[in-house]
Amino acid sequence: MNILHLIGGNWIRRPLTQRFPDREPPPAEYRGHVTNDAAACVACGICTQVCVSAAIELRPAESSCAWVYDPARCTFCGFCVQYCPVDALRQVSDRGAWAHSPHEQTDTTVIDYPPCAECGKPAMPYSENLVSTAYGERTEELRRRARLCEHCRRQVTAEVMRKTFSVMSDAGRSEGRSHGR
Ligand code: SF4
Ligand code: SF4
Repeated sequence: MNILHLIGGNWIRRPLTQRFPDREPPPAEYRGHVTNDAAACVACGICTQVCVSAAIELRPAESSCAWVYDPARCTFCGFCVQYCPVDALRQVSDRGAWAHSPHEQTDTTVIDYPPCAECGKPAMPYSENLVSTAYGERTEELRRRARLCEHCRRQVTAEVMRKTFSVMSDAGRSEGRSHGR
């Protein structure tokens, strides 16, 4: 081909590349932006621990916890999705808004703390699946304790231990009496 034809053709043709920030939409199966389901998240912080890019931060407050995601830091490795114990995270095909630098475009999901089943003060979120994974069996007692705030749970545990020790020492005393006869 004549070099002049080549130059002329390139001159007439529209550019194949796009000017930033225009871009082609990603394919449906693209694993990009991480989203959090506030109803499922229990604010455990595992995602912050496994993210090597420090793209996720938890900011706990008195009655809620902010889950803050920084897409400019995210490498879309999917570790956080894989390790979330309650399946609260998803990677969507959206790449999210572009940002020049970290902290410019953060996404915040607020996880509200439910009221304690005993005193009504804010307690850590509860997950049926997490309790059954941790303890195998979900007894009513376990469910009840999982819905308590830290203070009430400590009190209930202390009461259970006090009753257990009292039963054990009663058993020890009666055994001692039977040996003494
Ligand atoms: S998204 Fe999952 S891993 Fe991260 S804090 Fe919530 S429950 Fe924990
Ligand atoms: S996908 Fe990877 S880099 Fe992005 S927030 Fe999750 S763990 Fe961090």
